[in-house]
Amino acid sequence: MDHQYFHCPVPASPAAQARVPVLQKIDLITVSLPFVKPFATSVHSWAVKEALLLRLESEGVVGWAECVADPDPFYASETTHTVRHVFKDFLLPMLTPGQTIGALLQRWSPVRGHGMAKAMVENALLDLIARQQGRSLHELLGLPTRRIQSGISLGIQDSIPALLDAVAEAMSRPYHRVKLKIMQGKDVEWIGAVRAAYPQLALMADANGDYRLEHAPLLRELDAFQLTMIEQPLSYSDIVQHAALQRELRTPLCLDESIHDLDDARSALALHACRVVNIKQGRVGGMIESLRIAALCQRAGIDVWSGGMDETGIGRAFNLQLQAAPGFTLPGDTSETARYFSEDIVDPPVVLADDGFIDMPGGAGIGVAVQEDRVDRYTLQREHIR
Ligand SMILES: [Mg+2]
Repeated sequence: MDHQYFHCPVPASPAAQARVPVLQKIDLITVSLPFVKPFATSVHSWAVKEALLLRLESEGVVGWAECVADPDPFYASETTHTVRHVFKDFLLPMLTPGQTIGALLQRWSPVRGHGMAKAMVENALLDLIARQQGRSLHELLGLPTRRIQSGISLGIQDSIPALLDAVAEAMSRPYHRVKLKIMQGKDVEWIGAVRAAYPQLALMADANGDYRLEHAPLLRELDAFQLTMIEQPLSYSDIVQHAALQRELRTPLCLDESIHDLDDARSALALHACRVVNIKQGRVGGMIESLRIAALCQRAGIDVWSGGMDETGIGRAFNLQLQAAPGFTLPGDTSETARYFSEDIVDPPVVLADDGFIDMPGGAGIGVAVQEDRVDRYTLQREHIR
C-alpha cells in the first residue's frame, strides 16, 4: 500500500472563503422531463428525468442547483426523498448567513454521507454568490476558462445491431469518446462488435457494478479491445477487490460509485485500485470536494474526468464549470442537450463545436439562464421553504 496518498496535501479552493448570503427565498422544485430515449444501465432503465432543483434568492439574485439523486435507489442509496429530509432537517438549520462556505462544509461534517444533498446546497450557494459578484463559477473557484472535451454514454441496448446503430448515431457528432454500458451477457461480444466496426474510436465500458471478482477471466477478455478504461466493474461500494482485479487486467480500471469523497480517493490510490477516477461532483459533496479529489489525483498522475447523471441543463452546466480544472484530462460524460431532451429548462443548450469541444457558456454563475416558465411547465411539486 502507498501510504503517501494518505498524507498528500490538497490546496483549498478560493471559493471556500466566499460567504453565505442572506437568503430571502428557498424553494425545492421537483421537475420531470421526458428523455428523448430511455436510458438503461445494468441496474435499471429510466424513461424520464425526475430531478430535484434548489432555488435560492438573495436581494433579487437567484442561484440554482440540481440534485443528482434519482427518485429511486438504483444508482446510489440517496434518493430525492432522503435529500429533501436531510436538507430540511439537518443541512439548512446549520446554514448561517455570513459564515464562509468552507466553514459551512466543516459544520456539515457530522452529517455522515449524503453527498448528493450537500452538493445540491453547495452548488446553489456557489452559483448565487458568483452571480452576485457578476462572474463565472469557474472564476469564483479560481479556474481558468477553457474549452471542454465531450463524451457520450450509451445505455444498454436490446441487441448488438441496435448497439451498432446507437454508436453510428453518436458518431454523427464529433464526440471525443464513446462510453458503452455493459452487463453480464452483454459484454465481450458486444464490445468486440463495436471495436471491429470502429478500430480507432476512443472507447470505454461502464458496468455499474454488475460483476464479481470471480469474473476476472471474462473481464480479461476485454483487454483485447484497447478500451481507455473499464468503469466500476465490481460492487458499488468496493475498493479492495477492484485492487485485486486491476492486478489481473491490462486495461485501466476507473472507479465511480465507490468514490464518495477525498478519503475514498486516497484509499483507492493507496491500494492501486484504479488508474482513472470518475468525479461526479453532484455525488461527492460538490464542487469544492471534487477539486480536492482532482488535485490529489493530479499529484498522483491519475487521470480524472467528469461523470454525468443525465442531468438537465442546470446540472450539466455545473459539470462544465468543474471541467475547467486542469486535472480533468479525459473527456467526460458531457454530451449535447438534444440527445437527452427535446426541450431543456436552460438556455443556451450544450452544443458541440465542429472539433467536438464544448465552449464554456459565458454568463455569470453557471453561465446558463434558467427559464422559469419552462421550469414551471415541468414542475411536479414546488415546496416553498422560506
Ligand atoms: Mg459510471
